[in-house]
This record gives sequence, C-alpha cells and structure tokens, in this order.
Amino acid sequence: MTAPPSIEIVSQASLKGFNSLSLPSSAEFFCSVTDEHQIQQALDYARDNDLTVTPLGGGSNLVLAGDIAGLVIYLDLKGISCHEFDSDVVHISLAAGENWHKAVEYCLEQGWYGLENLSLIPGNIGAAPIQNIGAYGVELRDYFISLKAIDISTGEVVVMDKQACEFGYRDSIFKQALNNRFLITEVTLALSTRANINIGYPALAEALGVGLGQDASTPKMVSAAVCAIRRAKLPDPEVIPNAGSFFKNPVVGSDALNELLKANKTMPHYPQDQGGAKIPAAWLIDQCEFKGLRSGNVGVHEHQALVLVNFGGTGTELLAFAGSIQDAVQERFSIALEIEPRIYGLNE
Ligand code: FAD
Ligand code: NAP
Repeated sequence: MTAPPSIEIVSQASLKGFNSLSLPSSAEFFCSVTDEHQIQQALDYARDNDLTVTPLGGGSNLVLAGDIAGLVIYLDLKGISCHEFDSDVVHISLAAGENWHKAVEYCLEQGWYGLENLSLIPGNIGAAPIQNIGAYGVELRDYFISLKAIDISTGEVVVMDKQACEFGYRDSIFKQALNNRFLITEVTLALSTRANINIGYPALAEALGVGLGQDASTPKMVSAAVCAIRRAKLPDPEVIPNAGSFFKNPVVGSDALNELLKANKTMPHYPQDQGGAKIPAAWLIDQCEFKGLRSGNVGVHEHQALVLVNFGGTGTELLAFAGSIQDAVQERFSIALEIEPRIYGLNE
C-alpha cells in the first residue's frame, strides 16, 4: 500500500493572490490540503509547533489587515455525491474546496433546484455556512441539512445539523462561539427536483420581466437573470479587487424606524418578521456621499455603495476608510454599520 501524500508547508507565503481584495499579506506558514488525512497532518504540525490555524477558501470574504501568524490551511477537498434520492428531494454532499457557483451550475444541470438565486456568489463550499450566504431572498440555511467539520484543537470529526449551526442573517455559530474552531470539510444540502421559484426581489422580477412574486420562469432562467444583474452591477474582483458587500444591512427597531422615516421619507426599508425593518446599507452610504469616492488607494465602487474596492492599498488603509464611512453613517442616521467580511492580521 502506498503512503498518502504528505503536505508541503511553506513559510512566509504571500496571500495576495489568495484574497479577492488583493491585499498584501503573508502567512507565517501555509499549506494546501486535499483530504482529511492531510488535514490531520496539518493540524498535527500546528499542534507540535504551537501555531494558530486559519482556514482559507476562495478568499472572497476576508480583509487581511497585516501578516497572519501561525498556519493558514487552504481547503482544496473536491467531490460532489448524491444520495437519498426520492421523487421530490435529493440530498447532495459537496466537498469544501468545490467552487460555489460551479456547484450551483452542476445542480441546475442535474435538475436539482433551490440554489439558483445564489448563482455567481464567489468562493468555495466550505465557507458558505460561515456567514450563511444569501442573495435575492434565499439563504444557504433554506437548503442546508448538515456539515462535516474537524475540530482544530483535537482533530475530532463532527457532524453538525442546521440547529447546531445557529444560522442568522449573514451569520452562524462559526462567526460567534465557534469562531476559528472548526475546519468544514463537507456540506450536505437537500435540493428539490421540482422548481420552486423565488422572485421576491424587485431587481430580479424586473430582469425576468415578470411581476413581483410571480413564477413564470424556470430555475435556469432565474440563475441566468441573477448572473446578468450581478455582472452588470458588481465589480469583478479579477478586475477591481473587492470583497462584495463590505457592511451588513442594519436592522432597526420600530421606534428607530419611525424616527428615521420622519426625517427621510424616501428611505427604503424592508419589514422584518420580528418587528422593525432592514435598511439597505448602500442607501445610507450613498446619502453620506461616499458612492464612487476614492480615498488614496481605496474607495467605494461607483455603481454599488456597499462594495469597497482596492486600487493597491493595504488592509489598514481600507479599514481606516471603512471607519470613516461608519462614522459618517453613525453621525447622520445614528446607525452602527457592522463590517461583513472577516478581518485577520490586525494585531500581528
Ligand atoms: P474565504 O473568504 O476564504 O473565508 C471566509 C471565512 O470563512 C474566513 O473566516 C475563513 O477562515 C472561513 N473559512 C473558509 N473556508 C472554511 C472552511 N472550509 N472551514 C472553516 N472555515 C472556513 N456573500 C453572500 O452571502 N452573498 C452574496 O451575494 C455575495 N456576493 C459577493 C460578491 C462578490 C463580488 C464578492 C467578492 C463576495 C461576495 N460575497 C457574498 C461574499 C463571499 O463570496 C461569501 O461569503 C463566500 O462564502 C466566501 O467564500 P470563500 O471561500 O471565498 O471564503
Ligand atoms: P438590491 O437588489 O439593490 O437591494 C438592496 C438591498 O435591499 C439588498 O441588500 C437587500 O437585502 C434589500 N432588499 C431588496 N429587496 C428586498 C426584499 N424584497 N426583501 C428584503 N430585502 C430586500 O441589492 P444588491 O446590492 O444588488 O444585492 C442583491 C442581492 O445579492 C442581495 O440579496 C445581496 O445581499 C446579495 N449580495 C451580497 C453580497 C455580499 O457580499 N454579501 C454582495 C453582492 C450582492 P439583502 O442584502 O438582505 O438581501
């Protein structure tokens, strides 16, 4: 029997090509892993050398504010398998290193539906549960069954169901109590063999030429429309480095909402089940006149005020600029904008 391939650990590895903001940063140690055996090898190395571990996927939701101490592990596990198939529902398991959008396309080709509103979200499968990715009224949790993960400190393999992941709006237990505690290796979803069209967002209905909430479209048409809107509106990180939405959309309570609407009659807002409303952060930033503004080597995208872009600056420059946006929104609207991407390397 041949021994499984050993991992290669590189020291002082540049991460510039591994983050969609193209920020300069290096990992003290870096390795890429393709299976669970290699993960255990990497974790043994980290434990033996007393290194912290940072999981890395496509790097599209990160702000690298400096160099990263310890071992950065790029999860490159591949594979999609289908099981528990009945006439209505199919359960599929996807390895952490599969590209999210390619997986969405693959599912659509098989006739497995549900993920079409999440088309063209950058990044890999393993990161999708971290912030419960969402777009156009659909979130990962809507189709999520379970995930497989490895405890970074013990190497123990665990399976966590939807409840254990504590999904919230662009949030999960992995951004909270279990922050940086697990490497996710596989995600299992339940998709439908029947189309279940969701056209609740005005931009999507308009692109499809149908009325809000109507469903005279196929899942492939919805996916194509989502891709077209995103290509027209969002900067391609390969051309203009960015990390998508830089801030979460704030949710305010009913009293605050009423006060805000008194002073800002045209403010867009979306009522929440628990009361109050979600306010598009892009609108707040636009009102503070940051849309299209450049400050040194960083700026706000000209077509989408929620997307901060990098013209060759550093993570600290970007965070300082983000801070000035937060201050302006706080001063004018009394709303605290929360940064969405994960920040690393601040105090290294
Ligand atoms: P990374 O950026 O590599 O990592 C993100 C976080 O997850 C880090 O904390 C990392 O340590 C952790 N992590 C990564 N992989 C694993 C793993 N296997 N196990 C444990 N932890 C892990 N997000 C949305 O929700 N909706 C959108 O519509 C959307 N649109 C975007 C558009 C653009 C142009 C861009 C650049 C980003 C967008 N994003 C969106 C954000 C981003 O694409 C998603 O959050 C995506 O899931 C990040 O995947 P990634 O593999 O790049 O993760
Ligand atoms: P949009 O369609 O211009 O809408 C602006 C904001 O209003 C969105 O952020 C959205 O909130 C909210 N919204 C619109 N219609 C809504 C409805 N019917 N019910 C509840 N909320 C509604 O948004 P956009 O900026 O072009 O983005 C389109 C979708 O892609 C959004 O879902 C957005 O989250 C997602 N996206 C996410 C990222 C990221 O990095 N996280 C980047 C780009 C796009 P929500 O954001 O809560 O959906």
